[in-house]
Amino acid sequence: MRVENTIALVTGGGSGLGAATAQRLAGQGAKVGVLDYNLETAQKVAERIGGFAVQADVSSEADIAEAFDRVTDHFASAPRIVVSCAGIGLAARIVGREGKLSTDVFERTLRVNLFGTYYVMSHAARAMMALELDSEDDGDRGVIINTSSVAWQDGQLGQAAYAASKGAVASMCLPAARELARANIRVLAIAPGLFRTPMMEALPEEVTEQIAANIPYPSRLGLPEEYALTVQQLVENPYVNGTTLRLDGAVRLPQR
Ligand code: NAP
Repeated sequence: MRVENTIALVTGGGSGLGAATAQRLAGQGAKVGVLDYNLETAQKVAERIGGFAVQADVSSEADIAEAFDRVTDHFASAPRIVVSCAGIGLAARIVGREGKLSTDVFERTLRVNLFGTYYVMSHAARAMMALELDSEDDGDRGVIINTSSVAWQDGQLGQAAYAASKGAVASMCLPAARELARANIRVLAIAPGLFRTPMMEALPEEVTEQIAANIPYPSRLGLPEEYALTVQQLVENPYVNGTTLRLDGAVRLPQR
């Protein structure tokens, strides 16, 4: 699918990987809806790229339904490119100090990272199915890209909830692609390694350096622009479908 003149929606578009994706797609000529929990950051990005900001909590299906309506009204058509970047990265031991359980962290993480991605994918697929095939294009009706994580396969200590949520995002990619194939909609997931975003910048610099030293090549954190470039490449390549791509400089996360 070409990017130019195509309507796109990016969740988590106010920050990090989502903001870089919104910026890249707009730079390639897409009309971009920037969805975020944080309206202020979404508006800043939207202003910078000439896009449209929408406030929504991805863990609320009602919010997502309304966000799709608003984006569709604004651009007079539903998006054909939908990228889910909204997510949270809470860490907690299953049984913490003095026997404290982390079931609340598990529930919140699954609600945002998994249910949120599923709600967005569901509304995206239904809206895309109602669109005509684009005759100038190669036959795609739409492309949905979800964000997993390398923790999907190498979850570290304290990442049981996060890894479970990202594993599920990776696992649902193939069945979703199989189901939506009849509508010419492709479904993909990207599993980033360690990227330099506000989520990672919260860590002390020495921890970041330690992490970077463990990345074979390039031995540094990934750049949000590199994630965004991958989104564009996946959108444009018609033969890539139903798979989760590790984007990680060959890193394999250690136990902790
Ligand atoms: P980020 O900079 O924190 O951006 C995430 C954005 O999502 C923020 O703007 C955040 O808003 C928003 N968000 C959080 N919960 C939301 C909700 N319920 N509804 C709507 N928006 C919500 O993080 P990032 O590093 O770009 O991460 C993007 C995605 O990549 C996440 O799914 C993350 O798990 C995944 N990932 C990141 C890395 C990495 O190294 N950075 C590695 C692997 C996977 P607020 O600012 O208001 O919270």
